[in-house]
Amino acid sequence: MAGELAGKTAIVTGGSGGIGKATVELFAAEGAHVVIADIDADAGQALADAIGAAARFRRTDVSKREDVEALVADAVDSFGRLDIMFNNAGIACAAFPDFLDDTLEDFDRVVGVNLFGPMIGTQAAARVMRGQGGGVILNNASIAGILAGQAMMTYRATKAGLVHFSKSASIDLARYGIRVNCLVPGHIRTPLSSFEEGSEDGNIGELSRAIDQIYLSNQPLKRRGAPEDVAQAALFLSSDRAQQITGIAMPVEGGVTTGDPVNHLADIVAARARILGD
Ligand code: NAD
Repeated sequence: MAGELAGKTAIVTGGSGGIGKATVELFAAEGAHVVIADIDADAGQALADAIGAAARFRRTDVSKREDVEALVADAVDSFGRLDIMFNNAGIACAAFPDFLDDTLEDFDRVVGVNLFGPMIGTQAAARVMRGQGGGVILNNASIAGILAGQAMMTYRATKAGLVHFSKSASIDLARYGIRVNCLVPGHIRTPLSSFEEGSEDGNIGELSRAIDQIYLSNQPLKRRGAPEDVAQAALFLSSDRAQQITGIAMPVEGGVTTGDPVNHLADIVAARARILGD
């Protein structure tokens, strides 16, 4: 449905790369004006240049209140209004496989980007949207905020907090006609979820295949997600097709949060066959 966002203005934080970049491209293709907000100015400016007059880049650290408030003002100054705020920027925490080894040195930074960033982004955008009679806010959470699990505790805690904040904000802001939803991506192929860095060119392919197998081990759909999958969900929730939808956490994760894909009965039947011969 080309032109679905015609006449609308969107901000995409973390828009220089990964899921954010795919969303910027899709939103622009659907007719939106898009402000790309990121700390990576080179990639963000290059993306804005490639899109043309419908896009602009603004250097923004989402963990800084003054940056986010200036970003929202910039969108309104540049394009006259703000209809969609996609609080997408997020960072992983340091990768300690054992929580007892975790120094938690990055705690403040991860909370600042992953939780304070979307909270201040929601507030700043909603103050503008209130005066316009409505708008759409999307926050990018993660399966790590839905499923408890080992390791990456700070990341998990921020994403769980973001899901709860989004649901609460959806109730609080409904009186202004503002819808608030969050996305719950799982194992999307982007730099954030890749551990190939540091490997030699010759073994990147083998390492990537091994990492895919690890990620897919508890995913019912045996297909690694792409940034475009999340962008499509963001488009739907931002569009007027979703005007009755607020307060949800939409999974884009190949079924990981649906349930345990282990077939215990098949395993028991196999164990009986092996041990009892029946
Ligand atoms: P990515 O690393 O590819 O892109 C993140 C972008 O955010 C980058 O352009 C980066 O420069 C920018 N950024 C980082 N810190 C910033 C800051 N302080 N202010 C503004 N911009 C900043 O990551 P991605 O995989 O595209 O992740 C996007 C979002 O999706 C994140 O919130 C992430 O937690 C979430 N997510 C990703 C996955 C996955 O598997 N990739 C899964 C679940 C959730």
